[in-house]
Amino acid sequence: MRVPLIAGNWKMNTTLSEATELVNKMLRELDGVENVDKVLCPPFISLAAVGELIKGSSIKLGAQNVYFEEKGAYTGEISPLMLADLCEFVIIGHSERRQYFNETGEIVNRKIVAALKAGLKPILCVGERLEENEAGRTEKVVTEQLNSSLAGVNSINGLTIAYEPVWAIGTGKAATGKQANETIGLIRRTISKLYGERIAQDLRILYGGSVTANNATEFMQQPDIDGALVGGASLKADQFLSIVNQTSEISQIK
Ligand code: PEP
Repeated sequence: MRVPLIAGNWKMNTTLSEATELVNKMLRELDGVENVDKVLCPPFISLAAVGELIKGSSIKLGAQNVYFEEKGAYTGEISPLMLADLCEFVIIGHSERRQYFNETGEIVNRKIVAALKAGLKPILCVGERLEENEAGRTEKVVTEQLNSSLAGVNSINGLTIAYEPVWAIGTGKAATGKQANETIGLIRRTISKLYGERIAQDLRILYGGSVTANNATEFMQQPDIDGALVGGASLKADQFLSIVNQTSEISQIK
């Protein structure tokens, strides 16, 4: 039985005081929701403060990015060792990083390797662009991203994968539950080929892309979808709580 996971990716939003305010708005209710792992991924500068606020609760903390070196002359970067002190999860290979910061498959791979080595739990993002989807290349693109991201990785213990079709991120144009479930099924089969069926069955695979309180149930009802990576809706306490609550309810009957 896979426990579902809902992660809120706040992206480059919230000042320190806004981050504190957002956590305080949902802390108590979010803490009380069972049968689902809840992860908040604020900007780096708010990690420590959010970590203090959620200390002792069931809410977990994640970062949105990480560099692959442990330390040294890499001005402006944050290392896996620094994060391992502060948080449990880290998003790696988000399409915005691939698109705006030229993160290649090789860079994503180095980050995955470094994060796992430091004991962090990576949330690896994969997904096709609109033109790739329209050209019927989804399967090829996603499989290639998985193969390159996980090259040389012997154990994926601690890993979560998020399937995030690029055309659905921040556009309000979510995939359908059926579409997302199909591609997530393909991801699970690819992981099975790489690591064996037992590991593939234990792996959590999330959907991400315009998930809101209005469509969350459609995704969570799908057999292969184990939660969501939520962007925009995670900045609204009531929306995020509703997504988490819907996930919890469905996980009890799934
Ligand atoms: C994301 O940032 O990973 C994401 C899925 O964003 P949104 O929910 O806003 O589409």
